[in-house]
Amino acid sequence: MPKGRIVINIEACKGCQLCTSACPSELIQMSTSFNSKGYRPAELVDPAGRCTGCALCAMICPDAAIEVFREVKVKSHEAQPVEEVVVIVTGPA
Ligand code: SF4
Ligand code: SF4
Repeated sequence: MPKGRIVINIEACKGCQLCTSACPSELIQMSTSFNSKGYRPAELVDPAGRCTGCALCAMICPDAAIEVFREVKVKSHEAQPVEEVVVIVTGPA
């Protein structure tokens, strides 16, 4: 299973919760605190590292607030694992 992670821009998030239902592993919850605009932003809760970087959350986000990173396989002689950024292109709603 591929490994991934997401970074949520909490200031861009409007708290619509679409990403929470889009994640197949239910790894996104709403924060208990507020951003500067008064919204409760989404946050990744993934202590077991189950995010696959599938990007479903980012694709559904109407505010392009989620950046997705997915680990890519590297040759065994390369010391550090490498991440790729999954670019989500969204059009106007
Ligand atoms: S990238 Fe996929 S698995 Fe990871 S949080 Fe988003 S929807 Fe869930
Ligand atoms: S879909 Fe986007 S705007 Fe909506 S809660 Fe998730 S990160 Fe925030």
